[in-house]
Amino acid sequence: YAEPTQDFDVIVVGGGPAGATVSAAVALRGHRVLLVEKETFPRYQIGESLLPSTVHGVCRILGVEEEMARAGFKPKRGGTFRWGRNRDPWQFSFALSPRLADPTSFAYQVERSRFDAILLDNARRVGVDVREGCRVTGVLADEERIRGVRWTGPDGEVREAAARYVVDASGNGSRIHPHVGGKRIYSDFFRNIAVFGYFAGGERLPAPNDGNIFCAAFDEGWLWYIPLRDDLTSVGAVVARENADAVQRDPATAWRRLIDACPEIRGFLDGVPQATETPYDQVRVRKDWSYWKSRLWRPGMALVGDAACFVDPVLSSGVHLATYGGLLAARSINSSLAGSSDEARLFAEFEARYRHEYGLFHEFLVSFYDMHQDERSYFWKARKVTNVGTTELEAFVELVGGLASGDASLAGAGPAGERLTAAADDFERAVRRLPDADDLRNPLYESETFRQVFQEGTVLQERGLLGGPLETEAPLRPGGLVASEDGLAWVESEQ
Ligand code: FAD
Repeated sequence: YAEPTQDFDVIVVGGGPAGATVSAAVALRGHRVLLVEKETFPRYQIGESLLPSTVHGVCRILGVEEEMARAGFKPKRGGTFRWGRNRDPWQFSFALSPRLADPTSFAYQVERSRFDAILLDNARRVGVDVREGCRVTGVLADEERIRGVRWTGPDGEVREAAARYVVDASGNGSRIHPHVGGKRIYSDFFRNIAVFGYFAGGERLPAPNDGNIFCAAFDEGWLWYIPLRDDLTSVGAVVARENADAVQRDPATAWRRLIDACPEIRGFLDGVPQATETPYDQVRVRKDWSYWKSRLWRPGMALVGDAACFVDPVLSSGVHLATYGGLLAARSINSSLAGSSDEARLFAEFEARYRHEYGLFHEFLVSFYDMHQDERSYFWKARKVTNVGTTELEAFVELVGGLASGDASLAGAGPAGERLTAAADDFERAVRRLPDADDLRNPLYESETFRQVFQEGTVLQERGLLGGPLETEAPLRPGGLVASEDGLAWVESEQ
């Protein structure tokens, strides 16, 4: 065991997607990075359905996109839902976004043990000093800033290491996140519990949508059905917190009962045995996952991934937020280490963009749940109250976005407004080009928020595919910064 001999520019705590991303993106700029991971990979994790922005954006920037393509993961073209008032399943494909045209109109369904190992090995390859089987137990701090970490090696001996920045990417179970922004703020809305396990096979949707995530709502909640391999399917139930006692008392029985209560998923699994290979032979439970923090950084330290925030499993935003958050933090760290602007401004950019992205999903998913749980739809209410927007969903977004007054300058003025308008125009053109596509009946596409979510993802993808966005990127806020051409730092906007 070789002791790390030097101080570091950055110490990253945790080697999941968030930690592997931020560490590699900083090492790619030539900085000295230590990553401390308590497990020895490969290790199990839930969160198997990815978004295109991770696959073609972040993975490409990190130099790992080709390895992902060779790994044999199941391509995911979109999502299929039995959800909301519509009794028939409906689906969307990523290709519906004009910016997600081939060859980037898909993501993957991944075994996380393999995906996370690919990202962590890549971090090691680009120069990160990765220490598995080591645990961070605390941070070193003085009055001004965080200055390093205290950690134990495989021999159990306590060590200290110093760095200009510490990034907490230690996930949901982080012990050090309170050093930034105090306690987690738990969502009152997403107070659900999940129970999940695996089957050794299962029916697939008809091609070409056989790699889609299938989500089916039923009386007690909803189920995900994720095809990982021909002989492996991830099936999880998300139900209200009131079921926690029964689920925790006997997870395997609760899981089976919930699958039986959902005819669509039950039908797909008729006669299929439960998986017996490790680590898929267990039924697991997770709860208390929906939280955010009042601050995501302080001098010398930033939070990314589940250490910072998570919304809810539906629509698979977790790994996207983790990898995008990791990239955003790396940009601020790289720029700060290069002395290109002052730390507060650089990290304010990280925090604003991360919060914005989280906010888009949070806001949208609240609506998405209400669509099936509450007949008196939130969108319908918004339309009724404000009488703005062309659809009920748009009225909702305008209301909570502060645009219900209809004052055009609020929506149209400023670069961010122009960018969203451009995205909406692209979308309308795409709709006109595909008048008969089934997917277009999906009310999601009428939502401005949904377009914004796609827009954020596609800017990342363009950067990965073409080495930069198709249009000059506008700052998120007046006076804000934009990403450098390689996506690894912040630069002044030309607009
Ligand atoms: P993690 O993947 O949790 O990695 C953190 C790492 O830090 C771990 O390897 C851990 O061992 C290490 N660590 C912890 N403490 C220490 C320490 N003290 N010292 C050193 N190392 C430490 N997301 C999706 O994108 N798609 C999905 O389909 C999806 N489904 C989900 C379903 C459920 C029920 C839940 C709860 C979440 C789901 N998610 C999904 C979210 C996803 O699991 C997380 O958002 C994602 O794993 C976060 O990545 P991360 O790198 O932040 O954390």
